[in-house]
Amino acid sequence: MTLTAVTPTEPSTETGTATHCPYCALQCGMAITTEASAPAEPVSARVAPREFPANGGGLCQKGWTSASLLDSPARLTTPLIRTDGELRPASWDEALDLIADRLTALQAEHGADAVGIFGGGGLTNEKCYLLGKFARVALGTSQIDYNGRFCMSSAAAGGMKAFGVDRGMPFPMTDLAEADVIVLVGSNPAETMPPFLRHLQGAAAKGGLVVVDPRRTPTAEQASVHLAPAPGTDLALALGVLHATVADGLLDDPYVRDRTSGFDETWRIVAGYWPEHVERITGVSAADQRRLAHLLAGARNAYVLTARGAEQHATGVETVSAWINLALAHGLPGRAGSGYGCLTGQGNGQGGREHGQKADQLPGYRKLTDPAAREHVAGVWGVDPDSLPAPGRSAYELLDALGEPDGPKGLLVFGSNVVVSAPRSQHVADRLASLDFLVTADLVLSETSAMADVVLPVTQWAEEDGTMTNLEGRVLLRRKAIDPPDGVRSDLDVLAGLAERLGQPAGRFSTDAETVFDELRLASAGGPADYAGVSYDRLRAGEALFWPVPDTEHPGTPRMFLDAFAHPDGRARFVPARHTGPAEPPDAEFPLLATTGRVLQHYQSGAQTRVVAELVDAVPEAYVEVHPETAERAGLAEGQLAAVESRRGLVTARIRCVPSLRPDVVFVPFHFPDGQRANLITNPALDPTSRMPEFKVCAARIVPAAESEKDGES
Ligand code: SF4
Repeated sequence: MTLTAVTPTEPSTETGTATHCPYCALQCGMAITTEASAPAEPVSARVAPREFPANGGGLCQKGWTSASLLDSPARLTTPLIRTDGELRPASWDEALDLIADRLTALQAEHGADAVGIFGGGGLTNEKCYLLGKFARVALGTSQIDYNGRFCMSSAAAGGMKAFGVDRGMPFPMTDLAEADVIVLVGSNPAETMPPFLRHLQGAAAKGGLVVVDPRRTPTAEQASVHLAPAPGTDLALALGVLHATVADGLLDDPYVRDRTSGFDETWRIVAGYWPEHVERITGVSAADQRRLAHLLAGARNAYVLTARGAEQHATGVETVSAWINLALAHGLPGRAGSGYGCLTGQGNGQGGREHGQKADQLPGYRKLTDPAAREHVAGVWGVDPDSLPAPGRSAYELLDALGEPDGPKGLLVFGSNVVVSAPRSQHVADRLASLDFLVTADLVLSETSAMADVVLPVTQWAEEDGTMTNLEGRVLLRRKAIDPPDGVRSDLDVLAGLAERLGQPAGRFSTDAETVFDELRLASAGGPADYAGVSYDRLRAGEALFWPVPDTEHPGTPRMFLDAFAHPDGRARFVPARHTGPAEPPDAEFPLLATTGRVLQHYQSGAQTRVVAELVDAVPEAYVEVHPETAERAGLAEGQLAAVESRRGLVTARIRCVPSLRPDVVFVPFHFPDGQRANLITNPALDPTSRMPEFKVCAARIVPAAESEKDGES
């Protein structure tokens, strides 16, 4: 089942340290060189692209400018403790002692779950693993989750249901080059990960690049076919195309018979979604639905790829299931040269969801509710399995419970800026403000850190060793290339220092990344995401290792499911899905559909990219995209300030008139702070399975706004 790995990672060279970008899940290869302008001057770093399968020697503007982050004047270099309302510098011992004392006191008064942890999908595998262990062993709290819940959880749950295991792309991304047809659903790589476009060129050249997106994005502009369903109707579109597939005799009957189960139950629902009916729901013509069905059926090799546009809904798991069902109907998953995949967003969005920082999870993608998994991991940790807490709250539910009588009173935040990135963000900020004690570990004083009682300055990508798992399940070694600024420590140091103060035995929490990774290998051994055979030595030697890698002789698994899917019977599952529409449909009061997304120059909450001058110069602030007629009806014109209002708040930014946009849609990018926070309006309605909030659609209206509202002064 395993095949030859793709191009190996290059080792460090005389011209620099071979490493990977600090931002998105493409994890482009780059080299870092360091130099001092004079012998007594501080060393500064420079990045250059490096040949690597993901990026083929290209970088986007974020990657090119990433070295600016390392010596940014905004960097934090000393712990800060809030005194008399102000953050003032403190020593590390003072800060760690205070944190340990306050956490101990809160737990003594209110119980173990009085302290919560919020992690991040950009943290290295080692940090994600140690955060989960720290929560369950050093604090004994069930209250841990992370921002990947906002990003990947619906695709992960959909993949689990269909295939029995979730690896975003269960094939190397270089396989995409041979495809005749690629259907991108809710993805805009031309802005989010531009070097990825190289993998789509083959399908585009053959007229087979299909983009499903309510907006005519830069990716949609380059597509052979652009389908623009109304926000919140992607699921219905998948049902219509599946209906056309069956009605036009295009179903891959042998594949469905031999490799899947559940088709009949799924068809009983899909039979009611004929293309003309779906046209009325989505706005995508019946002819275009049939055209897509025939494109997929006529392709020798084809892929369906979903991303946040499809997934960030209160029905995100069902939406993913509907698109997987379509891929199964055409016999794509588990066939060489074809497949279904999801495009992970955050840098370690894949590894970050595998190693235990999720509320219900233990390392190796094991379930916290599985007695055998508890016993295995507790054995590695040297603790009693019964001492491990039960699953806790999901990310938004955890944030929503902060400061409540039965919620956490103290919170530690690592690698996340929830004041900007969480849905209904003013409510989340209010919950943070209600805490007795908030601690953050951060690079810069993000909007969340600005609210903290203690802020710990931590190292970043080029200043530390660590592994990341990219969007195709390939484990990468990111090497230390430069010393961190004086006064800065790694997250591993922070956790070890706190664990010791909380009474943990010496050595249970290592500060050395390779030692932590070796422990992670043991903890993951035998689990769905098995890293037992991945070692730093193999990665240093340039091996391309895609999990599972069950032992050190195993070559890794670039292509999964070729022989069988991961369910016990080896079959993939059709999972019935039904269109219900947005949790908050438009009405007379809020007649528009607001949706959110990214711009090329910024990453996530913008905490990192908003301190890079070139990126800020390019896109200094949020904006509101609307159709010119929609703007005119609201009494607005290009460049004027508008407030986009929902039932939860309003976001203020300048109007950009976009004739290609649907007149019922308004778009706001989500990287900006204060009154420009797109998440001031987003709907925290949660998917019942993944607990993913509905970031991608809510009912809204636009009205003219005053200049003072842009900075949140209203
Ligand atoms: Fe590559 Fe993503 Fe970094 Fe851009 S942000 S250089 S696409 S890894």
